[in-house]
Amino acid sequence: MVEGKELEKFQRVIVDQDICIECGACVAACPFQAWELDESSKARLIWDKCQDDFSCIGSCPVSCIWKSSEAPEEAKAKKNWFRFSRKLNDEEKIIFENLSKKYSIIA
Ligand code: SF4
Ligand code: SF4
Repeated sequence: MVEGKELEKFQRVIVDQDICIECGACVAACPFQAWELDESSKARLIWDKCQDDFSCIGSCPVSCIWKSSEAPEEAKAKKNWFRFSRKLNDEEKIIFENLSKKYSIIA
């Protein structure tokens, strides 16, 4: 069971695809291959691959990637800006559910 302090280690990032200019810089910057360009060439986070190193944030020329704790409410309310690469295990499910609650991610 992951809870308390363990959970605080995680927060991931959030992107606003409406601001994204489809440049691919975040894809190149991420050391964990946690970004891809979706069918519309917008940046999409592969949630389970993100390791919270935050190097993508500074790489974005239009500043539309934030730590979850710092993301605007309207970005957090949007849909389809992330996906999972595989079925989450039980621990990851708990982390995801808790993060969604903690940061009011509606997706
Ligand atoms: S925070 Fe780090 S690991 Fe996560 S998507 Fe950004 S660059 Fe990749
Ligand atoms: S770096 Fe920013 S603008 Fe470029 S693809 Fe990633 S999110 Fe979009």
